[in-house]
Amino acid sequence: MSRLSGKVALITGVASGIGRSAAALFTAEGAQVLGVDRNEVAGQALAATLQAEGQFHFLAADLSTEAACVQAITYCCNTYGRIDILYNNAGIAIIEPFVKTDAEALERVMAVNFKSVFYLCQQAIPKMQQQGGGVVINTASELAIVAQPLYAAYCASKGAVLSFTRALALEYAKENIRINALCPGPIETPMLQGEFAQAADPAQAKAEGIATMPIGRLGDPAEIAQVALFLASDAPALMHGAALVVDGGKTIL
Ligand code: NAD
Repeated sequence: MSRLSGKVALITGVASGIGRSAAALFTAEGAQVLGVDRNEVAGQALAATLQAEGQFHFLAADLSTEAACVQAITYCCNTYGRIDILYNNAGIAIIEPFVKTDAEALERVMAVNFKSVFYLCQQAIPKMQQQGGGVVINTASELAIVAQPLYAAYCASKGAVLSFTRALALEYAKENIRINALCPGPIETPMLQGEFAQAADPAQAKAEGIATMPIGRLGDPAEIAQVALFLASDAPALMHGAALVVDGGKTIL
């Protein structure tokens, strides 16, 4: 029996990295998936591969505005008639000295990493209430829990996701809506590769990244997708408002 058969899932940020892996896994596990991403070319390419396997639709959208978030949930409900799982995964990194982060950059990182999560939840939860339940997975980060220099705005955006997730989980716990935060450690995706590429010595930056990992390697996107699948499935019935850290042991060092 597939773990998500009969479920409708909306996953954001499916054109790359963790979201791409999760879209493939959720589809393989029987879910009907709406993948949303601002990268239309990569999203359509993914759709071409996944449509053959199961039910997958792609919506090109920049989720940094409330209007786009409203449109995404409406599109999901118009396409599949419901929404059982909202997996907020889209995100951007910003790595620079705190004093260099201007208003525009701060607004962008908060809009993508936090406000989209807020608005998508605001649209999806009433539908879940009508349906009698649902699951929300919000992507925070290990950097919502521990800190790293040059990541002040990013850490703040992910801290907001974590705090928001806990508050929301409490508000809807009695309505059979499970809302949890997923906190990945360093995962080898285009986002992390881009962060290494920004360093003066990218190979050295990568080696230093690996050195922070007790498992001696970076994480793989599929390893986060597996945990997202667990959270999306009916198995963790008692998990509400958790911060699930999946980081190869980095934060216990
Ligand atoms: P990635 O850059 O590989 O993929 C992110 C996807 O989000 C991209 O396809 C991008 O187009 C999409 N996206 C970005 N802004 C968007 C917007 N405004 N509207 C729609 N789509 C948008 O990154 P990833 O490493 O797979 O990261 C996925 C999530 O995991 C992010 O929220 C990230 O912050 C978080 N995370 C990643 C790591 C890591 O080490 N890779 C660690 C902790 C948390």
